[in-house]
Amino acid sequence: QQARFTGRTVIVTGAGSGIGRATALRLLSEGARVIAADISAERLAALEQSSGSGELVGVAGDVSLQADVDALVLAAGPTVDGLVNNAGIMDSFLPTAEITDEVWERVFRVNVTSQMRLMRAVLPGMVSAGFGRIVNIASEAGIRAGASGTTYSASKHAVIGLTKSTALFYGPKGVRCNAVAPGAVKTNIEAPFLSAWAAERLGPIMQTTIPAPAEPEELAASICWLLSEDSPNVNGAVLMSDGGWSTI
Ligand code: NAD
Repeated sequence: QQARFTGRTVIVTGAGSGIGRATALRLLSEGARVIAADISAERLAALEQSSGSGELVGVAGDVSLQADVDALVLAAGPTVDGLVNNAGIMDSFLPTAEITDEVWERVFRVNVTSQMRLMRAVLPGMVSAGFGRIVNIASEAGIRAGASGTTYSASKHAVIGLTKSTALFYGPKGVRCNAVAPGAVKTNIEAPFLSAWAAERLGPIMQTTIPAPAEPEELAASICWLLSEDSPNVNGAVLMSDGGWSTI
């Protein structure tokens, strides 16, 4: 395999499982120094076991907390070339009138605020270097309503706005910022796929339209393409990596 990331330092959040783990391993296999963040120290230890000879720095912490973001960026060192804002959580597939403040605030803190804070922290360095590659993980739920509950949909739509606006302001300074929108992927994400409310109303539609779930490695391939110099003219894009689900 071609080593597209030799000499590059890349932060990956939510690297202990699923898409983040596959992305961290792919980056390591292509020569990157990977700063792997996860709320679970146990999952990071398991990643370290599988990581072979690559340079991996595991940082346990909650990316929804500013202090943990500061510690993560400090661990990465002065130069961060790439950032994969991947950590994310689901809601319970609940519609607007059933949203609790607790779920709304937690989902937004983890799925949106963490991405803003990490970008805010690394962008000044990327601007001085004239080089930065950011990939934010959105979702099928970032472009329409049928893939999750209201809170998660709203949070992933926000990820796309955050991505496009960052691309606009920082593209001229050498930073490319794109989003990958996965469809269904075989990971450990908590997916009470349909609440009773949604199963009754959406079950038949959902079941006939979702393509077979992808492997996390398929998502890692999409993410690494956007991080690499194979996508030089791509900025502010939302790459659907969903087996064609969005075409339906
Ligand atoms: P996953 O649950 O397998 O992995 C996510 C990792 O993030 C876990 O290891 C978890 O411990 C970590 N994490 C959660 N909250 C955290 C926090 N506050 N701070 C630090 N780490 C935290 O999930 P996944 O499916 O690989 O999800 C990755 C991303 O892909 C998410 O943003 C998710 O919304 C998105 N996504 C997933 C699917 C899917 O079908 N799996 C579909 C669309 C989008």
